[in-house]
This record gives sequence, structure tokens and C-alpha cells, in this order.
Amino acid sequence: MNKLSANSWEHRDMDNVFHGFTDLGTLKSNGPVVLTHGEGIHVFDVHGKSYMDANSGLWNNVAGFNHQGLIDTICTQARRFPGYHAFFGRIADTTVALSEKLVEVSPFAEGKVYYTNSGSEANDTMVKMLWMLHRRNGQPQRRKIITRLNAYHGVTAVSASMTGKAYNAEFGLPLPGFLHADCPHYWRFGLEGESELEFSQRLARNLEELIIKEGPDTIAGMFAEPVMGAGGVIPPSEGYFEAIRPILRKYDIPFIADEVICGFGRTGEMWGSGKYNMEPDAIIASKCITAGYFPMGAIILGKDLSDELARVSEQAEEFPHGFTAGGNPLGSAIALKALEVLEEEGLLENVNRVSPRFMERLHKLGEHKYAGEARGVGLMGAVELVADKSTKEALPGDLQISERIANKALEKGLICRPLGAAIVLGPPFIVTTEQIDEMFDILEETMSDVFADVG
Ligand code: PLP
Repeated sequence: MNKLSANSWEHRDMDNVFHGFTDLGTLKSNGPVVLTHGEGIHVFDVHGKSYMDANSGLWNNVAGFNHQGLIDTICTQARRFPGYHAFFGRIADTTVALSEKLVEVSPFAEGKVYYTNSGSEANDTMVKMLWMLHRRNGQPQRRKIITRLNAYHGVTAVSASMTGKAYNAEFGLPLPGFLHADCPHYWRFGLEGESELEFSQRLARNLEELIIKEGPDTIAGMFAEPVMGAGGVIPPSEGYFEAIRPILRKYDIPFIADEVICGFGRTGEMWGSGKYNMEPDAIIASKCITAGYFPMGAIILGKDLSDELARVSEQAEEFPHGFTAGGNPLGSAIALKALEVLEEEGLLENVNRVSPRFMERLHKLGEHKYAGEARGVGLMGAVELVADKSTKEALPGDLQISERIANKALEKGLICRPLGAAIVLGPPFIVTTEQIDEMFDILEETMSDVFADVG
């Protein structure tokens, strides 16, 4: 980093950019990676170095980094109608068409869509919808939100409060009334002699106890990711959603699927909530909705919830909430095209075609001496590193093992993500089996190098 001239992109970044979610020690020593463009599943830095992005950007660039159809759509719509809002009953035609399409591909026979600019804002908005709904229904005390430990729902004050990560303490979060139930990670939290189904049932009992302790009529709703993504790719334990769903119904607690990562094919099905029988009342979508080519979040409300919300909003005259750029026509045109690409160019099919190879190589990586668990589904996977396979004892935190592996892989031209003690992979949906092999070959070599270094 120091060898680069003062007017290099890297120095200009360090002088002017305040990075979030970035290890600042590593940034200081290694400098940023400043990118110019992408091609397929690769991105290129200002020095012309190529990187295979095994994380699809942040899970979202599923059609690769230079999809011509999406780029053409951007140009065409930008010439036609690049920007408008969705307030006061005015809306762009492309946004209406997108809403129709989203309801069509959703698990709901009928429903309605509300737009935001991000997944965090969509979760935040959904919470406000629930608060308003219960308040108007004569239950203003019904404000508590249940999520799970290790869940990730975003970074705004409310969605960060929903996120079950320790780092939120930095901000004095969670806000009061945000409750975190158990994380359904059997490998990590299952008890000695307990089967996976028994584990799921225990978690369901714990959830019911929590609801009773807090008072069922104080709970506004529960949110869950089908597969926890930023928690380290944690598919639910067997029977988990089937065990908790009846409890939520019993206490009339709305259930929201946060499909920001899983939605639009990541698990091999259109919706992760379908794969895991969540039967949600609403879906939170973002990321792949525009294949990463435009900021957009959406709430897809099932009919019951959307009817209820329409009724109370009418009483109040309106739903008093909105984002200036929510339902932007350019974003809507891109999202429509992204759905067409997903369905008609065979992206979803490709996920299922290459997933067996992805999982096979992931499990082979899981045979590594220091790999405690290899887990995943569709095109999302993680390998969690431990000091001892049998006891699952963690490696000393000061080794920063996953960070080291990711940094070393980056040198070798592979972008992968360290998350806690896990290395996380989520390649674009256009990835080929050859590229999957190349990705795991580099990762295997990198892990050998790094563990050889630390002894
Ligand atoms: N929900 C989930 C499951 C996510 O993974 C994320 C982001 O990674 C969010 C919400 C927040 O989305 P955004 O970063 O667009 O605010």
C-alpha cells in the first residue's frame, strides 16, 4: 500500500472514503481494492487484476457483472422515464407492471407490493406497518418484535435491533422490545444425544415460553430468514419452521420471511420460505430483485395482511410512510428484466444444475482438519473453522483465521467472505461447474497455505 503513489486510487480512497463493515487494520495494511468493471463472475481492479467474486458482490449480482440485457434495459428505460416517485397515488407504469409480476411469482394468490430502497428499509417499514395495524386494531401495546440470535435484518435503528449480532452493542442497540429467540443451528447448539428434530422442538417450546412470558398480546410479529445468511449460512434445523409456525398461529402473531438473500433462487427455489415451509404472511425482498443493478427493497404482502393494512390506512386516511426513490421506474424496469433473466435465461435452472457440484466441493472442504462444519443449500455455503473437530472448540480469535484466508484468497484472485469463524460462498447464478472447481481449488490451496503459516 505504501509503495503506491499519493495520487493512486488506493490513497485517494484512504484519504476520502469512510468504509463500513471493513476491518480497518487490514484496510490500513493492505489498502482497498478499487474496481473498474466486471465481466461474467469476475471483477477487475484499477491495475487490471481479475478476481472471481464467489459472493456475487453482496449476494446480489446473480446475473454477473455485465449482463447485456440488463444494461440495455437500463439504457432504454433511462431514455424513456428514468425517475419518479410513488407518493400521492402517482406511479410509473413499469412499477405497476413489476408489482403485478412480483405478486404473480410470490407464494400469495393475491397481494400487494410496497417499495423501499434497501432490505433494511423494507424490514423497518414492515415493523411500522405492524405497529400501525395493531394500534388501529385497539392493541397499541402490541409492539414487540421477535427475531433470532445471529439473524441479520439490516442496519437502520429498527432493523439493526432485529439483527441478533453482538456488534449492535456499539450503538446501544437493540431498542427496547426487540426480542431474540434461539438460533436454529443444530451443529452448534444441539445438546448431547438430542436429535435434530428434538432440537427443533426444543426451540419451538422455548419460543412459546418466550411469547407467554412476554405476553402474547404484546408481540407485534416475528421475522425470520429462511436460511440465515450473514449469520454464517445457517439452514434451519430439520422441522424447525414446521414446529414454530403453529405456535405463531396459535397466538395470532404475523410471520414475516426476510428473503433479502434467499429470495429469487439462491436456495434453488424461487423462495426460501417455500423450500422450508414457512408459510409467511409477507415477504421482505431486496438484493437479487434487481440482480444488484439498482438499489431496491420490496415488501410483498399476502392478501390478509394487505387487506388489513388497507383497512386501517383508510381509517387513518393514508399509510403515512414512504421513501422518495421507492418504486423508482428505472429500478422497476431493471427488476422486471432481472425476473425475466432469472426465469427465461435459465438462471434458476442453472442454480439447480451446478448446486450438486458446489455442495460436493463444499463438503470436501469440510473434510479439512480444521473444518468443523460445511453447510449450505442451493448456491450458498459456509465452512466453519474450529481448533478441534470433535469438540468444536473455536480457534483463538486473535488468529483471525477466516479473515486471513479471505485476504490470502484475494491475493490469488478469489473474493470470498469471512463471517465469524466461517468462510462464506455465494457465487452468481451464472457460475459454471468449471468455475466452481476453480473456486474450491483456490480455496483449498489457500487454506493449506494459511494453516501452514499459523502452524
Ligand atoms: N435482511 C437480510 C436477510 C440481509 O441479508 C440484509 C443484507 O445483507 C438485509 C436484510 C439488509 O439489506 P440492505 O443491506 O439492503 O439494507
